[in-house]
Amino acid sequence: THFGFETVTESEKQQRVASVFTSVAESYDRMNDLMSFGWHRVWKDHFVRTLNPGFSPLSSSPSGPQHILDIAGGTGDIAFRMLHQAHVLNHNPDVRVTVSDINPSMLAVGKQRSQELPATQQAALSWLEANAEDLNSVRPLHSDPNGPTSSIPDASVDLYTVAFGIRNFSNIPAALREAHRVLKPGGIFACLEFSKADNYPLFNAVYKRWSFSAIPMIGQLVAGDRDSYQYLVESIERFPSQEDFRDMIVDAGFVVGGRGYENLTGGVAAIHRGMKP
Ligand code: SAM
Repeated sequence: THFGFETVTESEKQQRVASVFTSVAESYDRMNDLMSFGWHRVWKDHFVRTLNPGFSPLSSSPSGPQHILDIAGGTGDIAFRMLHQAHVLNHNPDVRVTVSDINPSMLAVGKQRSQELPATQQAALSWLEANAEDLNSVRPLHSDPNGPTSSIPDASVDLYTVAFGIRNFSNIPAALREAHRVLKPGGIFACLEFSKADNYPLFNAVYKRWSFSAIPMIGQLVAGDRDSYQYLVESIERFPSQEDFRDMIVDAGFVVGGRGYENLTGGVAAIHRGMKP
């Protein structure tokens, strides 16, 4: 493959991923729309609506305080939707979101975007530089890189979300273990990710063409960066199937309901959920 990922070490992969997202940070939001024909918005809306933060299904009323940890939160798409759903639709201002990402450039774009939000929502956000595989060593965005790090405590999070992030991780089982550690018992792990589309030959042919030829080309034209977008497409191809990923979630100690995932748009994307018992 283009980057020869099979032959690189974990830390090399991490560095490459870091440079991909540093170079796409500014164009990321526009490119998302172009590459997915705007579908990523529909998927993200659905993801957040079904998680329904700030609402308690048991009492059919606003839940108590909730701490959401949005991992690989990038430029804030999931976090902003969570706050809207909780604060505005569910009338629960006691929901706060920590947006965490390994890449400060992505977070900086997100923090800038958040200035458009109402003050109460801005106040409910915090921004954290963190590698999803080690949440024992995190730091506030733009803090001194040589300064002390802190830890996300065990059992401190109600809802852990990761959208279009986990396929970039070098060590997915390590990230799942960390998710399990930081969640409270009863807390939810929820992941939105590109997945394996159902096998309709015509659709597949078009989809493959689109991803392997068109996306890198659009990346070149719009962002002046073919390689980064080529990497993004390849990382989708390498990510495990819905069932294999579900089994990894179960192996990390989560309980899943039903088959453990929901396909979106014929499996082009999927949502996986697990509960920490
Ligand atoms: N969640 C956002 C969204 O849905 O728009 C951003 C998704 S973006 C495609 C993937 C993000 O994963 C990037 O911001 C990247 O920096 C981040 N990332 C990659 N590897 C990571 C890791 N090991 N730990 C935390 N974040 C990581």
